[in-house]
Amino acid sequence: MEKIEVRGINFDSLSMAEAVECCRCWLTEPGRTNPAVIYTPNAEIVQLCVEQPEIRELINSADLIVPDGSGVVLASRILGRPLKKGKVAGVELSENVIALCAKLGLGVYILGGKPGVADAAAEKLKAKYPGLVISGTHDGYFTDDAGIIAEINRSGAAFLVVCLGAPRQEKWIAAHRHELNVKLAGGFGGSVDIFAGTAKRAPKIFVRLGLEWFYRLCREPRRIGRMMKLPKFVFGTIAVRMRGGREPAGG
Ligand code: UDP
Repeated sequence: MEKIEVRGINFDSLSMAEAVECCRCWLTEPGRTNPAVIYTPNAEIVQLCVEQPEIRELINSADLIVPDGSGVVLASRILGRPLKKGKVAGVELSENVIALCAKLGLGVYILGGKPGVADAAAEKLKAKYPGLVISGTHDGYFTDDAGIIAEINRSGAAFLVVCLGAPRQEKWIAAHRHELNVKLAGGFGGSVDIFAGTAKRAPKIFVRLGLEWFYRLCREPRRIGRMMKLPKFVFGTIAVRMRGGREPAGG
């Protein structure tokens, strides 16, 4: 797989169809006892990684890293190493892999969201994908990691959808991937809310214009603090380009 580095994160340059195909291979790989791991960083998270190298290392340890958002794709162009296949939105990737699990008869475990949200997501997904097996669900406000891991392993799920928000979900998966017996695990942020219908994706026109972040900011003004990372990311990327690709010393 072609890797393209954007501000320290080694993205895989592939289309949605190719990403789903990778997941199919991992889900059906005989003898796989620990999960392949997917992360889907957006510009906000890449900026966090610029500021916190330990999170960057952890994200780069994944088996598949796809750009969730136009900001990362734009940055790759500014840096002169374009992610030619465009963005691969985490919410779409996770739903496509859930649909694939339904087709293959493999179980899905949904971890994350406020109490009741993962259950609502499970119901909506089962209605949409007949035959889908939801092996289990749990909200994302737990403290007993060992208990949750035992439950996931007992459930027999093949695909673990982790929606604890970034970077908690990435840290959680990285810390526990060797204890988990699923075939594939990924961090998918607010996807559980989209599946449950408790949050809506931006209308297509915002998505097409690369303004999903703006729609989200209007819906959730409390995100303004986090979103201040976006201008930092864009200006930082232009500065890196002007320095011939070098990150400033100390991130
Ligand atoms: N969440 C969770 N446990 C936590 C923090 C967040 O389950 O400790 C859930 C939250 O309820 C939401 C999801 O993580 O469903 C995504 O949160 P957010 O929108 O803040 O994250 P992002 O998608 O921007 O990474």
